[in-house]
Amino acid sequence: MSSLRQDSLTGRWVIIAAQRQGRPNEFRDRLQQMPEQPTTSDQCPFCPGREDQTPAEVMASGRASEMPANGPGWRVRVVPNKYPAVQSDTKTTEILPSTLMRTQGAAQGGHEVVICCPRHQDSLGTLPADHLTEILSTVRQRMVALAQQQSSARYVLAFGNQGPEAGATLAHAHLQIITTPVVPAVVVDKIENFIRHKKSTGRCLLCDSLADEEADGARLIASNNTWAALAPWASRFPCEMRLIPRRHCPTMLDISPEEVADLAALMSLCLKGLNNHAPGAGYNVVIHNTPLAAEGRQGYGNERFDGLIDNAPDIFHWHVEILPRLTRQAGFEAGTGFAINSLPPEEAAVILRPERR
Ligand SMILES: [Zn+2]
Ligand SMILES: [Zn+2]
Repeated sequence: MSSLRQDSLTGRWVIIAAQRQGRPNEFRDRLQQMPEQPTTSDQCPFCPGREDQTPAEVMASGRASEMPANGPGWRVRVVPNKYPAVQSDTKTTEILPSTLMRTQGAAQGGHEVVICCPRHQDSLGTLPADHLTEILSTVRQRMVALAQQQSSARYVLAFGNQGPEAGATLAHAHLQIITTPVVPAVVVDKIENFIRHKKSTGRCLLCDSLADEEADGARLIASNNTWAALAPWASRFPCEMRLIPRRHCPTMLDISPEEVADLAALMSLCLKGLNNHAPGAGYNVVIHNTPLAAEGRQGYGNERFDGLIDNAPDIFHWHVEILPRLTRQAGFEAGTGFAINSLPPEEAAVILRPERR
């Protein structure tokens, strides 16, 4: 039987409909044929030796000290996005006027690309955990730096698109960091749910959710000293994964090296599980943090958020999502905002667990 489940964190409803797995699909072959990932590329701007095809790097790790910047020898390299979605505060001084019916503002912020590895054919799922640790440490450092540099920033998001079905336009593994002046509505929704749960129980929503899932066990995928990964109760996507730090902390900006290394180890297990189940599958990785404090910042469009957590700046519990793109969303999702998922998370957790491999 189908069930309609609600995600306690986002408030989103999802139809879990296992019986839809058997429905006829004339396009199934096309969906299951994962596009071949190019193993080499003559034109890839992220490959070593073509550093001059990106904007000058803002950071690189792994290169010997005698090697020049913007040349080969790096393990992780960060550059400004050549085609940014937002423009740095220092470059945008124009005021865009709003009317009652047409609200707007300058798309201010930072937009950087973290090139994850020198080898074109590697991905987050194939790299060793210590390399993932280096990538995540780099992401953390650049999030801190962008939040400081961009006075417009009210939110800083790090995410990755792997594969064209997840929105990637370049095959070479990379993550992106964007700051926005507007706190995204999905974050405000979560904060309202954190506040509601705190008022009714006195506790953190995600701390409680993690304790509940560990006691139940049906949706747990893997865990270590400081992290746990689970298939969310109301998963929107088949094989969706939520990675939750055990320590209550609002943002990745404030975590310890041990927590970074443990996240890398767990993320590596999760992505290997996905790749075993669906080799070459596309996915998004999203790192969710609390918004930046308002003091001295010039964001706009935050009427719903401003004041919400003034008395509870630590209410948010940061987390990471892995959203595989094994199926496409259709008209029902577009019309309602809630998904139909034909793979129950209890089955997904069994598929993804490392002991199966
Ligand atoms: Zn490349
Ligand atoms: Zn918590």
